[in-house]
Amino acid sequence: MNPYIKRVLSETENRNVSQPLFLQAVNEVLDCLDPIIEETPDIEVCSILERIIEPERQVMFRICWTDDAGKIHVNRGYRIGFNSTLGPYKGGLRFHPSVNLDVVKFLAFEQIFKNSLTGLPIGGGKGGANFDPKGKSDAEIMRFCQAFMIELHHFLGEDKDVPAGDIGVGPREIGYLFGQYKRLTKRFESGVFTGKNANLGGSLARIEATGFGTVYFANAMLATEDQSLEGKTAVVSGSGNVAIYCAKKLTELGAKVVAMSDSDGAIHDPFGIDLEVVRSLKEIDRARISEYEKHVTGSKFYPDENVWQFKCDLAFPCATQNELDKKDVKTLIGNGCVAIVEGANMPTTPSAIELIQSKELFFAPGKAANAGGVAVSALEMQQNASLQKWSFSDVDQKLQKIMTSIHDDCQHYSQKYKRPKDYVFGANVAGFLRVAEAVHAYGVI
Ligand code: NDP
Repeated sequence: MNPYIKRVLSETENRNVSQPLFLQAVNEVLDCLDPIIEETPDIEVCSILERIIEPERQVMFRICWTDDAGKIHVNRGYRIGFNSTLGPYKGGLRFHPSVNLDVVKFLAFEQIFKNSLTGLPIGGGKGGANFDPKGKSDAEIMRFCQAFMIELHHFLGEDKDVPAGDIGVGPREIGYLFGQYKRLTKRFESGVFTGKNANLGGSLARIEATGFGTVYFANAMLATEDQSLEGKTAVVSGSGNVAIYCAKKLTELGAKVVAMSDSDGAIHDPFGIDLEVVRSLKEIDRARISEYEKHVTGSKFYPDENVWQFKCDLAFPCATQNELDKKDVKTLIGNGCVAIVEGANMPTTPSAIELIQSKELFFAPGKAANAGGVAVSALEMQQNASLQKWSFSDVDQKLQKIMTSIHDDCQHYSQKYKRPKDYVFGANVAGFLRVAEAVHAYGVI
């Protein structure tokens, strides 16, 4: 490893000792940069790595809210504006009990390079709270969102910091958050949130964008070896926003999705998952995936298990970080899986990635494959700024173009540096170079 990278890594480890996820994300990016640092000495001379690895700002705040029984709860909120070199901070909000500074920081760091890959003018940020939306009433969710926004609104703005959804935050929550922002600021600033409901200025196809985009990326990747999705069997972990629309597009393009999951376990349906049942359970009833077997004959629910045990050609981790480990990859390979495509952020552990790459399977990293969500978020900002409303098919076509271009950029850099089929390398180099060149161009700020 290049001595400059080694030094920066060691300084980063010392400065962030209790942040293993953040360090995992930093390691993955820096590990790919050797040839870039060697041919561009200015990166070290101008301390570009150090400037990218340190967040521009990190906000932590208390959220007090009252439940339906009148009990007062206290949660902790976060927003990290990691890097605004390419545009306003852009990245989702996550509401999940596991949220802490480490989680938000790794997500915000990943977001810098993902957003850079889209080619659109957006910087990297992320936020959230250690709030568990599960089992909460609509009124409790609304009160929490309003309390969260009392502090967060000071830091937002359509040219400054533009949140969206993530785990536990969908159009319902964005509506409550945006409504409170509007009330507090006395402004209808629609570009300050993306992922809004269509009648609040949201873009058509934003709900579908991350899942659809992941499948468009997979399609482009398979096509490099004259393969397609047609006739393939797939498993998709999770049953939230990304998972549902990933499974939908896979089905539309001729693949059969045989398993999905949530944190309670996995469902297996050998005839192909009925997505209308999943959507109705998860999006309307807010129920558990275990209910699926009651509605679909021939399916079976496996408590506390994941989807990786089921035979498939393609695996799409679409739930959460580090959900796919080396043991799972061994099972997938043993069952004949040929491609793993990340819909979630950093769902595959480093040792699992190493194994996948040593076996020359296709592997698409989330920062490239799931960039469709943020890309359509940026398209939502464009529509809001120009007071326009584009059709579903207009947005979908732009999404397909962006995903193909991200795929081609990754492939370009992996071929240029003689790392064929290494999409992790290609994505990190392509994402990094655009940010690094812009950091350099600003001078020291
Ligand atoms: P949702 O909240 O809509 O769905 C998350 C799904 O993952 C649920 O089925 C949930 O199950 C499951 N899940 C969450 N945590 C765990 C866990 N610890 N163990 C097992 N299952 C879990 O979130 P999204 O679909 O929006 O996000 C999924 C992933 O995609 C995240 O990594 C997110 O960062 C990433 N992503 C999302 C984008 C978006 O546009 N929404 C954009 C780019 C990336 P349960 O209900 O039981 O918790």
